[in-house]
This record gives sequence, C-alpha cells and structure tokens, in this order.
Amino acid sequence: MLPAGARAARTRLADFVSSGLATYDTDRDRMDRAGTSRLSQDLKFGTLSPRAAWCAVRDAEAPEEARERFLTELLWREFAHHTLWDRPELLERPFRADFEGFPWRDDPKGWKAWCEGTTGYPVVDAAARQLLTEGYVHNRARMIAASFLTKHLGIDFRRGEAHYLEWLVDGDWAANDLGWQWSAGCGCDAQPYFRVFHPVTQGQRFDPEGTYVRTWVPELARLPTRHLHAPWEAPELELRAAGVRLGEHYPRPIVDHATARARFLADAKRHLAR
Ligand SMILES: Cc1cc2nc3c(=O)[nH]c(=O)nc-3n(C[C@H](O)[C@H](O)[C@H](O)COP(=O)(O)OP(=O)(O)OC[C@H]3O[C@@H](n4cnc5c(N)ncnc54)[C@H](O)[C@@H]3O)c2cc1C
Repeated sequence: MLPAGARAARTRLADFVSSGLATYDTDRDRMDRAGTSRLSQDLKFGTLSPRAAWCAVRDAEAPEEARERFLTELLWREFAHHTLWDRPELLERPFRADFEGFPWRDDPKGWKAWCEGTTGYPVVDAAARQLLTEGYVHNRARMIAASFLTKHLGIDFRRGEAHYLEWLVDGDWAANDLGWQWSAGCGCDAQPYFRVFHPVTQGQRFDPEGTYVRTWVPELARLPTRHLHAPWEAPELELRAAGVRLGEHYPRPIVDHATARARFLADAKRHLAR
C-alpha cells in the first residue's frame, strides 16, 4: 500500500515530475515498470487536486510528448466524471443502447477463477492477484483482465466493475465504469467489441521479461521467459525443470483463446443484428 494523505500525495507528485514523467509516454504501458504516477488514489480521495497535477506537469521540464500524454490521461479522468454526471444511469446500463439485454453468461467456475487468479493465463492471473494483494492494478493489466472477463468468459462487465470497486484503493465510480464499459465494447468511445485482447501476446508485448508475471504468479517464476505467458505450450522437460506441473501447481487455461473469441463474436454479432 502507498502512503496516504495530502503530504504523501504532494511528495508523490513531485517525485513523479522529477523522475518518472520524462519517460511516461514510453513506459506507461509496461506492466513490468513503475512507469506511471500512482496518483490515482490521491486524485480519487481529493488529497491531490487534478488542477495541481495538471499545472505541475504542464510546467515541468520534460519532453513535450511525455507531458502531453500524461495530461491526456488526466483528461480521461475528467471525461469519465463528466460522462457519469451527465448519464448517472451508466452505473447500471451500457452506454450503447444496442448492448441492452446482451446475453452475458453465467459461469460460476470462470468467475471464481478470474477473481482468484487461476484462469491459467498468467497475465490475467497476475492482475487478479495484484488487485487482491495491493488494491491496485496496472492500467494495461486492468484492460487485459477486463477484456478476458467480458469477452473470453462472456461475463457481464457490471460484475467485474463491482469486484474492482470493492478491492481497488483508487476505486472510482466514474473512471471504473468508463474502463469497464470501454473494455466490454459497450461504452462511450469504447474500443470496438470485436477487438479481443490476446492475453499471451499482450503479456509478451507489455511484460517482455516476465517480471510482472513472476512477481504475482510466483509458481511460474522459474519458467524460461519464452514460455512464461503460455506455459501450456512449454515442453514437459522445461516445465519439470522449472518445478511446474500443469493442473497441479498452476492450472491449464480454463478456455481456449480462439474458441472463446469466436464464441463472443458470434454472441455479439447475433445480438447486435437484432
Ligand atoms: C477496467 C478498468 C477499471 C479502471 N478503474 C479505475 C478506477 O476505479 N479508478 C481510477 O482512478 N482509474 C481507473 N482506471 C483507469 C486507470 O487504470 C487508472 O487510473 C490508472 O491505472 C491509475 O494509475 P496511475 O495513477 O499510476 O495512472 P497514470 O497513468 O499516472 O495516470 C494519471 C492519472 O490519470 C487518470 N487516468 C489515467 N488513465 C485513466 C483512464 N483510462 N481513465 C480515467 N482516468 C485515467 C487517473 O486519475 C490517474 O491517476 C480503470 C481502467 C480500466 C481499464
């Protein structure tokens, strides 16, 4: 847990401006790096005002791309709050009216595995366990986890949204709702519903050395990096050398990526064609 309160928030902002900001635009998506400000809890509880963060970054001596990228993220926060103020019903309903009545699935086993971090997809499981341990999840990992719940498992985004709100220290009605609806494809300015994150390639791209996975899924820590994001594809000998028996120390994937993706796309196409 990070230290809380206004003084800690000011220190966090000053530290970020002097050391993290310069590489924010290149590092912010890397789950294996401390590349973001970690100001979300301060902004959520009002121990730091968005205006103070805005001015400090705007006036900082840092590359323009990095400053602009950070200010854009702050604007997403403002956008989320304005959207929810304008449409408070979004806490219960999808922004896109054509998603009303979407055939979300009831999958108690899938839900439990997603919450506990035992889906068999290391990066999804790392996100779940970081949430339960730290009350925080890296933004890229939030997007991957939310996409997995809603698209691979077909579970209603509102369930994931409520779970996040229960566990996140920075849990914020507006930003959380925007993030979940964006990930499910039914939100305002959301990513298209047919874009389904591949949890393996996302892991390889944004956690290339596997540091994030090794931190949160320690039972895979000794697996060579080339197999870390898809342990079920590792040769038996390498699994054994790393002390991993699939199905015993770490689960096999609860769904096959291609099958789950095709199922979601078929459900969505059928529903949206009505
Ligand atoms: C499924 C999902 C759920 C989310 N739930 C929350 C939530 O409950 N509370 C929350 O504050 N953010 C939420 N976000 C947005 C984002 O993940 C966090 O704001 C960010 O990870 C916080 O870390 P940071 O302070 O280091 O961010 P930085 O990258 O340093 O960003 C600076 C600030 O900008 C704001 N911000 C950044 N990204 C976003 C975004 N996509 N949408 C809105 N504001 C943003 C935050 O206030 C953040 O503190 C969610 C995103 C997703 C995909």
